[in-house]
Amino acid sequence: FKEDEVRLDQVLLDAWRETERINRNHHMVLTDLPRVWIYGDRDRLKQLALILLENATKYTPKGGTIQLSLKTNSQSAEFRVSDSGIGISETDLPRVFERFYRVDKARHRGQDPGGTGLGLPIAKWIVDQHHGDIWMESKLGEGTHAVVRLPLSEDNSTS
Ligand code: ATP
Ligand code: MG
Repeated sequence: FKEDEVRLDQVLLDAWRETERINRNHHMVLTDLPRVWIYGDRDRLKQLALILLENATKYTPKGGTIQLSLKTNSQSAEFRVSDSGIGISETDLPRVFERFYRVDKARHRGQDPGGTGLGLPIAKWIVDQHHGDIWMESKLGEGTHAVVRLPLSEDNSTS
């Protein structure tokens, strides 16, 4: 685990641009990202964002919307990857961070994009390394927010 001062907004923007390059099927909506430093590992934070953006892409039908936003307060930064996709039911929601857990593929109507069920467990592990929190908010058939909250580094006060 390589710890550094990291511009979270820049890391998110990197992951966003990478996703945008390979995703021609969705409306990609980026809101203004405030400048914020956190203490952590740049590569892993980018991997975290890519995992969430990949899920939003995979579980949102063509023509849907994917959005990234970031906000901060004096203690933490919170970003969310939101999608207008298939959503997650209340019964599945508590289990998506379990290793190899994947929601029943029947709901994809034979269009299961595939996967191993390791993206979110890895995302959770990265967030834990950064002493943060991650959770999903979702409504079946409407969409999902993947939310990550990370503690700020002290440098934000001097910027
Ligand atoms: P992998 O990420 O390993 O390729 P995966 O995407 O199936 O496979 P996770 O990223 O861990 O695995 O997600 C677990 C499950 O949670 C998914 O299989 C899917 O059913 C559900 N899920 C995750 N993100 C979303 C989302 N944005 N919208 C709807 N369902 C989701
Ligand atoms: Mg995944």
